[in-house]
Parts: sequence; structure tokens; C-alpha cells
Amino acid sequence: MIPAYMRALVKETADKGLTLKQVRTPVPNIGEVLIKIHKTAICGTDVHIYNWDAWSQKTIVPPMTVGHEYVGEIAALGPGVDDYHVGQIVTGEGHIVCGHGRNCRAGNGHWCKFTKGVGVNCDGAFAEYLCIPETNVIAVPETTPEEIVAFYDAYGNACHTATMFDVTGEDVLITGAGPIGMMAVGICRQNGARRIVVTDVNDYRLGIAKQMGASAVVNLKNQTVEDAMKELHIVEGFDVGCEMSGNGAALNQMLKLMRNGGKVALLGIAGPGTVIDWNDVIFKGLTLQGIYGRKMYETWYKMMAMVEAGLDLSPILTHRFHYTEFEDAFAVMNSGQSGKVVLDWTEERA
Ligand code: NAD
Ligand code: ZN
Repeated sequence: MIPAYMRALVKETADKGLTLKQVRTPVPNIGEVLIKIHKTAICGTDVHIYNWDAWSQKTIVPPMTVGHEYVGEIAALGPGVDDYHVGQIVTGEGHIVCGHGRNCRAGNGHWCKFTKGVGVNCDGAFAEYLCIPETNVIAVPETTPEEIVAFYDAYGNACHTATMFDVTGEDVLITGAGPIGMMAVGICRQNGARRIVVTDVNDYRLGIAKQMGASAVVNLKNQTVEDAMKELHIVEGFDVGCEMSGNGAALNQMLKLMRNGGKVALLGIAGPGTVIDWNDVIFKGLTLQGIYGRKMYETWYKMMAMVEAGLDLSPILTHRFHYTEFEDAFAVMNSGQSGKVVLDWTEERA
């Protein structure tokens, strides 16, 4: 029996914080699927929305349920949905795309001009139930722990970035050991990178990057990448770069450290007005590729295949809370002393 009302974490007013409250349970329309949420993970984007920073103020229209990293089971199918069944364990692609624009028709839905973000431009997953189009549903193997699937959306960002360029036998620089940087380490390792060097200014996070298979981790507060390169016999510079910090200084450092002809995938969202030294790009013949989301839906296949092949993401999951403890969960995320933080929605609590 699906209740008419459910609990959800809502950005209620244009202000800091979130409110746990009763809202109407969505009803799946034609071509839609209703998912009973089991677990959700907190993304950096959710922290921005919680903190009500400049980006959120111009993007989010309250009142709105937030969240886009989740796993759950199908609770109901809207009319016309016949590829899935009630009870199936699923997650979902977080971008709802138009399906008929040039990029969508070319199989490049991740570049859709009319994309809508779940939990950003429409109601999200930090709730007991979520309704999404059938086309966004991703069925997952029941053998994968649900608390890992809960952050597959972020894993998809990591995978899309880290597989943008061939890393087999290559030396890779990853700037930023946030959850996505940590995952990128495991992906590059699995895909046969020679050396993987990771930079951050946070020892806790660099520790997890090391556990995920980094050859060297560099805390820029007291170490240099040049020293690590010497030790690892990286002579001409890095072949592939994954910028995953969103920090302009990190981006500039990466461009300096790339080998001539190197390739750089840019996931981190550098602030407006970030300046780079174009001489690095032009005279070194660098390739820069911006990354948004993940390929729809090719990245999802690669992600699940890599986990099946043995990629272990469990070191990245550092904190678990019940959804009623969301304030503690956001505090941990804001502290920087965390990997992924997962909320449980299955246990009934007052
Ligand atoms: P995060 O903020 O948790 O991690 C960023 C890390 O960079 C932090 O650990 C921080 O200490 C580190 N850092 C700060 N300054 C640095 C410097 N100078 N050098 C090296 N590291 C430095 O973020 P995340 O969730 O792991 O995501 C990574 C980035 O990707 C963020 O910028 C996020 O906004 C962005 N992102 C982009 C997309 C997209 O579609 N393009 C999707 C998801 C996330
Ligand atoms: Zn489109």
C-alpha cells in the first residue's frame, strides 16, 4: 500500500538548511516509475543547496525536495511501462532530457540543452518515494551492496571523466581527492594506469585515495608534486589529467605538469573568472575536455561492468546515518572529513 503522504527533505524557503516534512507522495504518470527509496547519498551539490550558496540561490526554486543519489525498489509502474517490474532494485540517471533535440537524437543526452536535474530543477530523491521517467531507470544487479549503488550517480561522474582518455600504461594526475577523485583513482587503477598521483590539501581524503590505489598522494600544504614525480620516474609530465577539485590553482598546476600532447578531462567546476595560462595549452598542444554528468547511457554499462570485474568502492563510504539524522550527515559533509555519506530510508523512525 503506497501512502498518500511521505516524508521528504525539502528546501522550503530561500534560506540555509533543509526541512524534514510530510509531502504528497507522487503518482506515476504515463511512462513513469515510482521508486521506494532505500538509501540515498549526499552529493557536493546537495551541500551547496543546504548551505544556500550563490549557485543555489540562482538555481533552486523552493519549495522543492532535494537529492539525486539513491537506490530503491520499484513500488509502482505508470501506464505503459512494461520493461520493469514492481520490487526490482534500481537507481536512476539524474538528468531528465528532452529526447528530441539534436544531442538527444544523436545519443548524446548528457549534452541536452533542455535537461532537468532530479533534485535540482524538479523534486528529488531525499524522500520515501521518487517518481522518474522510465527512460531514466537503471536496473542494478542485486549482488551489489545497496549502500554502494546509492552513490552510483557520483561514480558515473568519476567514470565518465576517468575513461574520457585512454589511461592504460599512462601516468595520471588527479587533482582533488573528494569522493569523485577517490573513485577516479580506483577506475584508473583498474584500467591499467602506470602511475596515479593525487593532490589535495586534506590528509583524511588523501588517505582514502591511497587506499583506492594511488601510487602517491600529495598534500600540497607540505609536499610537492615534482618530488612525487621524481620518485615515480615520471620524466616528461603526466599523460592524462583529471581535474576534480574545482580549484583554479589546481587546474593551473595540472596544465603546468602535463606532458606535451597530454590530455585533460575537466570535471571540477572552477569558479567564474578563473584564469589559466593559455601558453600551457597552446605550446604544449594539450587537449582539454569539459565533462558534464555521464554518458547516457554508455557510462552506466561501464560502471556496472567495472564493479562486476572487482572494482571495490567500499573504502569511499565513510559515514552512515538515518535520514532523520540529516543535520549530522550534512555537518560531516561540510567538515571535509568524509568520503561518501549515506542515509538510510528503510528503517521506520518517528
Ligand atoms: P569535493 O568538493 O568533495 O572535492 C574537491 C576536493 O578538492 C576537496 O577534497 C578539496 O580539499 C580539494 N582541493 C581544494 N583545493 C585543491 C587544490 N588546490 N588542489 C587539489 N585539491 C584541492 O567534490 P566532489 O564531490 O569530489 O566533486 C569534485 C568536483 O567535481 C567538484 O568541483 C564538483 O562540483 C564537480 N562536479 C562536477 C560535475 C559535472 O558534471 N561536471 C558533477 C559532479 C561534481
Ligand atoms: Zn534533449
